[in-house]
Amino acid sequence: MRYLIHYSSDIGLKGKNRPDFVKQLKRNLRRQLPFERVWEVRGRLLAEAAQPDLPVHRVFGVAWWAVPRFVPPTWEAIVQAGRALAQEAVAQGRVRTFAVRARRADKAFPKRSLDIERELGAVIVQATGLKVNLSQPDLTVHVEIIPGQAFVFGPRHLGYQGLPVGTAGKVMGLFSGGVDSLIAAWLMARRGAAVELVHFHAFTEARYAHHDKAGHLAQALAAYIPGLRVHYVPYHLFQAATLDLPPRQARYELVVFRRFMARLAARLARQRGAAAVFTGDSLAQVASQTMENLTAVDAALDFPLFRPLLAFNKQEIIAWAERLQFYDLAKRPYKDCCSIISRNPATRANRAVVEAIEARIGVEALLEASLAATETIAYPAEDLPAWEA
Ligand code: ATP
Ligand code: MG
Repeated sequence: MRYLIHYSSDIGLKGKNRPDFVKQLKRNLRRQLPFERVWEVRGRLLAEAAQPDLPVHRVFGVAWWAVPRFVPPTWEAIVQAGRALAQEAVAQGRVRTFAVRARRADKAFPKRSLDIERELGAVIVQATGLKVNLSQPDLTVHVEIIPGQAFVFGPRHLGYQGLPVGTAGKVMGLFSGGVDSLIAAWLMARRGAAVELVHFHAFTEARYAHHDKAGHLAQALAAYIPGLRVHYVPYHLFQAATLDLPPRQARYELVVFRRFMARLAARLARQRGAAAVFTGDSLAQVASQTMENLTAVDAALDFPLFRPLLAFNKQEIIAWAERLQFYDLAKRPYKDCCSIISRNPATRANRAVVEAIEARIGVEALLEASLAATETIAYPAEDLPAWEA
C-alpha cells in the first residue's frame, strides 16, 4: 500500500533548512507508524506500508494524505483511473454528486488543470450519471501530476499541520491528568516541540497513576508525540511538609504547591535538556489562575515558563479534546492532588507570606527528596491497552 503525504504549509514556508524538517517528518512517520519506507518526490512524500488506513494525520507536519492510484502521466491513464474510481464509489452507494480537482505540478503535461477538471468531469458524467457539484460534492476525484507520475485519488484525509516533533527543541510540561494540560501538551508538540511531562500523583507508587487516568491519557498523547516520557512525582512528601500549616496560611498552600511543581519541573527540564517548562493554565479560569497567582509562579523560577492556553476559553479547550477523542477519558474523575488542597485558595498571592511558608517547609530539601522519588515511564507503555481513535 502506497501513501501520498503532503507536508504542512509551516514546513513549506521554511527556506534553506526545509530539508531538515522534511527529514524529521520522514523519521517520525516511520517511528509512529509501521511504514517500511518513506521517500520524498518533488515536494511531497511517498510511504509504503502493508496496512491500509494508517492514522497518518497523527504525525505533526502532515497537511493531508491519501492512498492514490499511481498511473503514468498520460491523459488516457488518468481518464481510466478517474473513471474507475468514480464507478467504484457509485457501486459502493450514497454518491450522487462529484467534482474533479486537478493540480498540475508538471507544466509539461499538455492539459491545463481546468481542462483536466472539465474533460475528466464529462467522462465521469457519461460513465456514471453522477451530477457535478463544485461546492459540496459527495465525491471529489483528485488528480495530481508530477513529472513522470500521476496520482488519482478520492478523499484527502486532513492532518493537523504544524511541525514535526523534535524540530523545535524540548519542553517539560506540567501534566495534571486534566483536559487543559493535556491539550497544552498536544499543542506544544504540534509546534514541533519534543514534549516530556511531569505528573504529581497522590498514590503510593507511580504505577497506580500509570494504570489510572494519567497513564491512559499519556498513552493517548503518545500516539501523537513520539518519545513521550512522563516523570511521576509523589505528592505525599510535599503534603506531609504542609500538614501543620496554621489555617491562616493554608489558603496559600495551592500557590506554594504551584511554585513547587514549577520548580521541580524546571530542575527536571535542566537535567533532560529541555529549554522551558509549560503548564495548562489559562488566565482567570479558576481562583488559582488569577494574574497575581500566575505571576507568583513565574517569580519562583529562573527558567522560562510557557502557557500555551493562556488566552483560550475553556470551551475551546474542550472542543479540541472532543475533536481528538480525548475528552471522554479526560473528563473522568481522578484522584487529583490539587483537589486535596484548599478549595478556597488565596486569589492574590502575598509574596511575603508565600516565602515565609516556603522557608518553613524547607522547599530545597523537599525538591531534592521529591526528585529522588520520581519514577519515569516511557510511552507507549507495553502494559497498557492500545489506545483507539
Ligand atoms: P488541567 O485541566 O490541566 O488540570 P485546570 O484548569 O484543572 O488544568 P489547575 O488544576 O488549576 O487547572 O492546574 C493548572 C495547571 O497546573 C495544569 O494545567 C497543569 O499544568 C498544572 N498542574 C496541576 N495539577 C498538576 C499535577 N498534579 N501534576 C502536574 N501538573 C499539575
Ligand atoms: Mg486540573
